[in-house]
Amino acid sequence: MTQRPYIVGNWKMNGSRAMLAEARAIDRAAQRYPDVEIALAPPFPFVGPLREAVTAIGVGGQDCHTATKGAHTGDVSAPMLADIGADFVILGHSERRRDHGEKDALVRAKAEAALAAGLGVIICVGETLDERDAGKAEAVVDRQVKGSVPPGESAAVAAGRLAVAYEPVWAIGTGRVAAVEDVIAMHAAVRARLVAIFGEEADKVRILYGGSVNGENAAGLLGAEGVGGALVGGASLTTDAFLPIVAAASQPAD
Ligand code: PEP
Repeated sequence: MTQRPYIVGNWKMNGSRAMLAEARAIDRAAQRYPDVEIALAPPFPFVGPLREAVTAIGVGGQDCHTATKGAHTGDVSAPMLADIGADFVILGHSERRRDHGEKDALVRAKAEAALAAGLGVIICVGETLDERDAGKAEAVVDRQVKGSVPPGESAAVAAGRLAVAYEPVWAIGTGRVAAVEDVIAMHAAVRARLVAIFGEEADKVRILYGGSVNGENAAGLLGAEGVGGALVGGASLTTDAFLPIVAAASQPAD
């Protein structure tokens, strides 16, 4: 792994003020792993409080609107996230694609808005089980990357503000993890599409794996060729579950 590994916890719709204690503990422990970039993305109400609670780790949102402000009840804009100290935003997560019907073009517009606001962006892609069983995993993910990644963002890419998370939908929250050889193949396919979009600068884009990553399987996944880190759901909710993943990123298996 040549890039600094990026381990991001996605709290999804979990969290409370009491859970900020977990974030503080992760933040304290992060100082033992300076070779790993660590971040947490809590639900919107906790982005600001979490920002105030930590110093060593990054803080992000889980979505943003395409517009900067206006009549969009319930939504949050990228400049608002930036204003409360967020560093990045996760976009196009399969749960948003499923629950809110988000399509690639919308994800791309959100990414443009987030990058314009100075945020980093993690764009999620991944195939369903039906798509994998039909032999379409690579084609689906290639189409998602092509449609969701904004092509005119070379400066942001050069600055390392774009990451892509390959998250097979069937592996998210299921305890079922993609085989390492499949992860390597899918990451290579994502990389090839990014090179087609950005040329040489594409090597600044970290490609994360997501889907039931835990302390036991992290070393194998993070040591796989082309894996630049992990997007972690369930195992990011407690310090005890999250830190072994960070430790594995710090010393990936060869
Ligand atoms: C995720 O939320 O992006 C995720 C990968 O979840 P989990 O680790 O729980 O599968």
